[in-house]
Amino acid sequence: MLDFYDIDIMKNASTQYVVSTVKHTLSEQMKTRWHDQVQNSPKLRTCRQIKHTFSCETYLNGHLTFKQRSALARFRSGTYPLAVELGRYRREIVPVEQRTCKVCNIGEVENEVRFLVNCSGYTHLSNEFLVQNDETNQTGNAVDDNTEFAYMMSVSAKCLIIYIINCYEVRRTLLT
Ligand SMILES: [Zn+2]
Repeated sequence: MLDFYDIDIMKNASTQYVVSTVKHTLSEQMKTRWHDQVQNSPKLRTCRQIKHTFSCETYLNGHLTFKQRSALARFRSGTYPLAVELGRYRREIVPVEQRTCKVCNIGEVENEVRFLVNCSGYTHLSNEFLVQNDETNQTGNAVDDNTEFAYMMSVSAKCLIIYIINCYEVRRTLLT
């Protein structure tokens, strides 16, 4: 580890300075490693779109039940039980392009963006959701799916997770 530091400076520095420098360096290395992992993990496709800095997420401190917090964490980390994730666990792994949405059935991969933004099966719920959050909705004009997705992921955690759970309930009803 000493390779990272200027030995001449460190050997004459105070303990406090050395500790502070080592802490800072380790912290920066950890952030770089975290950033690389997020960028390179297929599973973290949603996290990559919405989280740009290494910090504690505010939804973890909010007034969510355990079930809501857990569901939101799964959605954000790409492990919510949508086709894109479920296809990984079949006896024979389903190619990503075949993990399609069976709710709207138009051959599009069921991932977090399709589920949240543009699956026609949840239009009634998404319209309601956008009306409720219209106060801060900057996406009144036509925007691409990823922009709309980022907006929806940025609203109040409580509102978002209730919407996700309600959509999933519709999904469960339609697919069973
Ligand atoms: Zn769909």
